[in-house]
Amino acid sequence: VALFKHIALGAILLVAACVKPTTDRPEYTKAELSAEAQKQKTAADAVKDRFDDKKKYTDKEIQAFAARLDAVARPVEKASTELCKELTKNKETCTYEVVFAADQKGLNAHADGKRIVMYPAMMDFATSDNDLAFVIAHEFAHNIMKHPDAAKQNIGIGALLGVAIDIAATAGGINTGGQFSQIGASQGHLSYAPEFEHEADYVGLYILARSGYPIKDAPMFWRRMSLASPQSIYISTTHPTNPARTIEMDKTVQEINYKKQRGLPLSPNIKLEKE
Ligand SMILES: [Zn+2]
Repeated sequence: VALFKHIALGAILLVAACVKPTTDRPEYTKAELSAEAQKQKTAADAVKDRFDDKKKYTDKEIQAFAARLDAVARPVEKASTELCKELTKNKETCTYEVVFAADQKGLNAHADGKRIVMYPAMMDFATSDNDLAFVIAHEFAHNIMKHPDAAKQNIGIGALLGVAIDIAATAGGINTGGQFSQIGASQGHLSYAPEFEHEADYVGLYILARSGYPIKDAPMFWRRMSLASPQSIYISTTHPTNPARTIEMDKTVQEINYKKQRGLPLSPNIKLEKE
């Protein structure tokens, strides 16, 4: 019993050590969420020609994507660096490279802690410069908020937690074959992923506002994504649902406009204490 208690206590401490987002974002009700989900479902059901994320692009199209990315990214990059320096109190260089990956497949973009990587299908999908600027700002926000590093740390912590269960079970005469270590690793990776996505939307909107792009219609991006891939209207453990993202961004737009009207600094709300 004593050994088990010891392991349980260790497990609690390990969970507490997981890295959490630090922004203080707007809240929304369940009623708002279900109304938005219904709206997106109705719109997605009515779509006849869904976006083709496996389309092959010509060399000319690829060249045009690269040039457009470069032009649209420039003001976003400048605003991201400024906000990053502000949040890190000038302790970091805050330079992240925007890269166009011509051979990447899928309607996606990603951030790896050093770069922002844009895929051709996303360039094709984000037809307005405002939409594209939002996607770039969202990826910058992942890097600024150190989500790629935190995800790695969470993976490590999750795996450690699993190892504790494996050891406890083996001590109790059960051979788990290391199963829990594997489960722990994937749980760690998943634990705060939806929160990180919301946080990247939130900080991304502030970057967008500071780069001079209009923010009013940015929440519509997730409605358009629902038309392209309707499954993301519903439950997901790795990403927040599109309706939840739309509502949170709507409320963030209100928050930013409120600050603008009162001449307050356009900085994301940060939690005073890390949980
Ligand atoms: Zn993201």
